[in-house]
Amino acid sequence: MFVPCFDQRAQSAWLSKSGGKPISKGCLENLLANPFYYGTIRMKRSGKLFNGIHTPIIDKSLFDRVQEVKTGKHNRKVSLHNHTYRRLVVCGCCDRTLYGEQQKGQVYMRCHTKGCPTTTIREDRLEGAISRQLLELELGRHDRKRLERELQVLLTRRNTASDRRALQLQLSNLDRRKEQLTDALLDGLIDKSAFQERRVRLENEKQDLSDALRNIDDTDGDEQLARNFLELVKNVCLTYQISNKQQKRRLTEILFSNRTLTGKNLYLEPQKWLSNKLWAISVLCGPPDRDTARTKEHIQNVLNEFHEWPRQ
Ligand SMILES: [Zn+2]
Repeated sequence: MFVPCFDQRAQSAWLSKSGGKPISKGCLENLLANPFYYGTIRMKRSGKLFNGIHTPIIDKSLFDRVQEVKTGKHNRKVSLHNHTYRRLVVCGCCDRTLYGEQQKGQVYMRCHTKGCPTTTIREDRLEGAISRQLLELELGRHDRKRLERELQVLLTRRNTASDRRALQLQLSNLDRRKEQLTDALLDGLIDKSAFQERRVRLENEKQDLSDALRNIDDTDGDEQLARNFLELVKNVCLTYQISNKQQKRRLTEILFSNRTLTGKNLYLEPQKWLSNKLWAISVLCGPPDRDTARTKEHIQNVLNEFHEWPRQ
């Protein structure tokens, strides 16, 4: 009754009798109900309990939990794989991620670290909190007009000739830094692993700058990207609410850079491009440089992903 896969488990060596025969279900029941293993002796006739002088092999709390499981009181179903927000929220106390559990028809996100102050949130409450936060981040009509004006200003101000010069200058600076790095290695100022690490970083920078240089004349593309971005953030809460489970999960992942539950306090930190849309517009339509190139690429990826979703 209490161990659904009893037969299978009883076959394993640690549950067999000394002769190798599997132990019976009744024998296992008695074993699990015996307080002897946590250091207490129960008198057969009276049922009275006395402290033993032997060394316990389990603690009382484990014994109590086993009794709860046996009586069906402890029937938390832990499913690690099938819940929408599994492992998306971090426990603020121990830094591990929360898993979903089904209890009486409700899904709870819970921290499974032993001894961690219990951190749990019901899935529908988590969704409510996400919706509320997204509603605050949605773009009102007034803000949208303001951002569209800003977008036009940025695009007209763009001078591709000076943008190109600025990027070329940054690229030649990069070549100089590479030479300095090699000198530092030869002079023994840095070791080989530090050299490799910095060289990879410089190569990445160079890649970003070259990409920015290649895309410099594409102001039409930038404008379209910025308009798609405004369209996305205009209805971000509604988009979340009408999404299916898989999309909701993905949106939560994409839109919030930090999702932490500490005690009962849920902290959701939106991506910078979602909380500061003016900054995002300036990244999308402003002069290219390596710091903004990565953010632009990130927003571009997010938009691509959204546009690939089937319409509800
Ligand atoms: Zn925890």
